[in-house]
Amino acid sequence: MAKYQAPLEEFHFLLHEYLLISKKEIDGFKELTPDFTAEILRQGAKVATEIMLPINKSGDKEGCKFENGLVTTPKGFVNAFDEIKKGGWTGLDCDPLYGGQGLPITLSLILGEIFSSCNISLTIYKALTHGAYATILTHGNDHQKDTYLPKLVTCEWTGTMNLTEPHCGTDLGMIKTKAEPLSDDEYKITGQKIFISAGDHDLSTNIIQLVLAKIPGGPDGVKGISLFIVPKFLVKSDGSLGQRNSFSVGSIEQKMGIHANATCVLNYDGATGYLLGEKHKGLQAMFTMMNEARLGVGVQSLALAEVAYQSSLDYSKERIQGKSLQKDGKFSSDPKPIINHPDIRRNLLDQKSFIEGARALTLWTALLLDKGNRLSDKRSYGLASLLTPVIKGYISDVGFTMTVIGQQIFGGHGYIEEWGMSQLVRDSRIAMIYEGTNAIQAIDLVGRKLNSDGGENILYLRELVTKFLNQKSASEEIESDFFDPLRIALQDLDDVLEFFLDNGIKNPNSVLAGASDFLHLLGIFSIGFMWVKIVTHIMERKKAGKKLNKFLEAKIVTGRYYMANAIPKTTFLATKIKAGDKILMSLDPDQF
Ligand SMILES: Cc1cc2nc3c(=O)[nH]c(=O)nc-3n(C[C@H](O)[C@H](O)[C@H](O)COP(=O)(O)OP(=O)(O)OC[C@H]3O[C@@H](n4cnc5c(N)ncnc54)[C@H](O)[C@@H]3O)c2cc1C
Repeated sequence: MAKYQAPLEEFHFLLHEYLLISKKEIDGFKELTPDFTAEILRQGAKVATEIMLPINKSGDKEGCKFENGLVTTPKGFVNAFDEIKKGGWTGLDCDPLYGGQGLPITLSLILGEIFSSCNISLTIYKALTHGAYATILTHGNDHQKDTYLPKLVTCEWTGTMNLTEPHCGTDLGMIKTKAEPLSDDEYKITGQKIFISAGDHDLSTNIIQLVLAKIPGGPDGVKGISLFIVPKFLVKSDGSLGQRNSFSVGSIEQKMGIHANATCVLNYDGATGYLLGEKHKGLQAMFTMMNEARLGVGVQSLALAEVAYQSSLDYSKERIQGKSLQKDGKFSSDPKPIINHPDIRRNLLDQKSFIEGARALTLWTALLLDKGNRLSDKRSYGLASLLTPVIKGYISDVGFTMTVIGQQIFGGHGYIEEWGMSQLVRDSRIAMIYEGTNAIQAIDLVGRKLNSDGGENILYLRELVTKFLNQKSASEEIESDFFDPLRIALQDLDDVLEFFLDNGIKNPNSVLAGASDFLHLLGIFSIGFMWVKIVTHIMERKKAGKKLNKFLEAKIVTGRYYMANAIPKTTFLATKIKAGDKILMSLDPDQF
């Protein structure tokens, strides 16, 4: 079985030494003392490792079942979900007005990582419910908020997002599901949705489907899409459950991973739906859910990469294979644990430096979101929205690779099911596809996020990095090993932005051709910025005479590895991007 222990020391470091959260002048942050966060994370890790982790492998093997029109989750899932609900783990960052605990996203994101590491399939039921909660909170009227939010906060009812149809996933302008008005806010929903995660199951008493549909006579394309609340059981005026709504499960998908999360075909047959938000503004409203989910998907990938790292690290210390070079320059007479081989160390440091840097980036983004929400700080919010596709797309691309690297360290034992590495690879793969494929994240980044507010968000990121690089570094070594590589990456970023500005308007394909590479470039650059800040902080501590423990010493080496091995990729990516679309677009489809 895969090995996992919540990296609590790492979380403590990031929260209290790197981000200094309890010192922030943000409403609700003063209470986030080291003792408080340590206790809540310790309790969360206990629930996750004792209740969710033990049914992760069996859940994968058994999968969900669909019999006689009903979907059931694997053995143990109902009890485990009940325990999570009872412990209050479902509404951590929800509004206290509706029964939530009002904690910052910065903290709930960490718990999301821990839960996903232990059982991603089970965590998805909770995560989608939170997304439905956030969408109704932002776009619902008072009656809708009072009716649905308290039950979604506790996960007594769960939520979903229904976008995809058989003929369209990315291009939602083509959806056919129809919403015919019955009254001002009540509609009759007809159509088919596919691939709906948590679309039906036995974990909650009601399921609140948020469904995209078109009202006949509305504008064409995405401008004609509206959003509807379609409960599995209609809710009576006293809040109790009424009749079963007119939709049913057609089937559940047999798929590569996340077997214990039900992926459903849902057939809407004149179901009752309630308009959520404004008519024809459904896609914008659904973006509340998708933006939150995109951040969550990046964290899911990170969570699985962490398990792969911990498992392969453990294995590399136990697996004895091959003689290794010793300090005296001679090879050992006996075979040694594989962690002694340089190539295994390369694999381990690739994992460690990516995971720790990416975690710092996701937590910093969560803090920007908290600042945006709690201080109405537009710049922080804007920067978080620029980084959201990077976190979803870049972290899930590389996070998947990291599970494969972990699997590789196990050799053949990684390919068989016994050690759990195969499940990690299978479970991780979906993050690159759902919530908009990573290609779509990249297009969103170059097409929308870079340009929004006149490019203010990327300029703000540049400003933060430049300011940091202009300060005096802690030592010459830090200057040459950390600041200089980041300066080169910043130049690569600038070159690409200039290329986009010069070419994008006359030929959008020249930008689209490099979109995925740019997503990676910005991901590597942003994580590099995190590493430079982290190591600078540690070195300043050392300069002030504080002794560094092994954890902090390892951080310096890990950061140095990232700057030497990952950051140089920005130059390669910039060269590729600046080649534009000419070669790519020169073959006719029949020449491929
Ligand atoms: C396990 C699972 C769970 C899911 N859960 C949900 C859910 O809960 N709710 C929901 O609504 N959907 C869900 N989905 C659907 C998922 O979001 C879609 O599969 C995804 O958005 C891609 O859509 P598609 O499969 O139709 O691919 P397509 O849109 O057909 O895309 C095919 C390929 O073309 C590329 N492509 C498409 N358009 C462009 C373009 N303009 N430029 C460049 N490349 C392009 C895509 O990147 C992709 O590689 C789930 C899917 C799976 C497999």
